[in-house]
Amino acid sequence: MLERFAAAGVADHMQADVVRGMKEAKFMLREVFGTRNVHTFAVCGTGWDGLDCAFSPILPGDSVVSFVNGTFSGLDDFNIRLKASSTEDLAKDPMNPKPANVVTVNVAHGDSVTGDVVEAALAEHKPMWAFMAHWETGSGRINDIQGFNDACARHGVMGIVDAVSSLGIEYFNIDDYPAVTTWASCPQKGILGLPLTYAPVSFNDRVIDLLRQRGCHTYVHHPILEARHWCIADGRDVETAAYHRTHSGYAVASFHEALRLLLAHGRKQKAEDYSFYEAGLSSAIKAMGCTVTVTSNMASLVVFDLPAEFEGKEKELVNGCRAAGFAIWNTLSEPAQIRIGILNQLTVPTLNDIVGRYADAMIEMGAAVDKSKVLGDLNSYLASRQ
Ligand SMILES: *Cc1c(COP(=O)(O)O)cnc(C)c1O
Repeated sequence: MLERFAAAGVADHMQADVVRGMKEAKFMLREVFGTRNVHTFAVCGTGWDGLDCAFSPILPGDSVVSFVNGTFSGLDDFNIRLKASSTEDLAKDPMNPKPANVVTVNVAHGDSVTGDVVEAALAEHKPMWAFMAHWETGSGRINDIQGFNDACARHGVMGIVDAVSSLGIEYFNIDDYPAVTTWASCPQKGILGLPLTYAPVSFNDRVIDLLRQRGCHTYVHHPILEARHWCIADGRDVETAAYHRTHSGYAVASFHEALRLLLAHGRKQKAEDYSFYEAGLSSAIKAMGCTVTVTSNMASLVVFDLPAEFEGKEKELVNGCRAAGFAIWNTLSEPAQIRIGILNQLTVPTLNDIVGRYADAMIEMGAAVDKSKVLGDLNSYLASRQ
């Protein structure tokens, strides 16, 4: 493989086919996002890279209200505080600054951020920016994107949304939420751009105009500068790329193929597939006696507790599964619950594998699970669709 890589010497980051691949990827990304935003491109790295680019227009002293209902929105809030801090704020608490101009609204683990919560906070604080995660993966909650958009529109606030966990999984078009000026996602969840390639981002003209007026403090994650390599300049698509940083022809090819496959599958079809397989997994988990107290409503993830007699053993069971190569998770914030994700596992064999392995783990723990009945019921459900 390395030999083949090394042999493709001409495919550098300015080579015509690599640039063409980036242009085509940019056009496909607009379809994936459901947008006409010119500043739609992708940032090398993972979700946090895209989010860092998304937050880069926030300058020290800017007022922000951020809504936190789990691990990931908590980290987003942290990054926002880093961006909005003055030198004095940083000096006071360098590793965890708490600038007075950022108001963090905490919503309980397992609850969604609702339009009412957003409306009340924006009406009270009248910030310049508001932030919310679309799907909070930490607890598995879907937040109210319509309510967030509407409250931002009513108060003239620019909305920023972490769509790391929803893009390519739920069917939605970001242009239906015009008060959300900025969106960021990741390569590995809904897009399956592996190995980790590019984090999709989209900025509307309002935030780009602001950026043009006042700039921001980054080179590498500067939305206007970074977009030049994707053949976006002066607010429109152009023919030639301007060097911003090195892009690997392999990464571009992989990302391009991932976007092509997603669009060929169909965004709507993909969303339906997730719901269908998630429902099968969820029933199987319940049939094994597990209880769902904090229900995940994300179609890519089931979150649950063990049966009452095994309460408190969630982490132990998860660690045992992980040691055996079955990559499930516990919730990252309290209370400890089990999370099983089905990202890109939308086939009959993979669902059987997941449910079978989980049943084995329950049996090993001492639970009375009828594995063949659970799998039998699962497969009659899966067969019901063909
Ligand atoms: C996974 C995730 C992230 C972090 O993405 P990385 O790809 O790990 O950088 C951020 N936000 C949400 C909602 C996520 O699910």
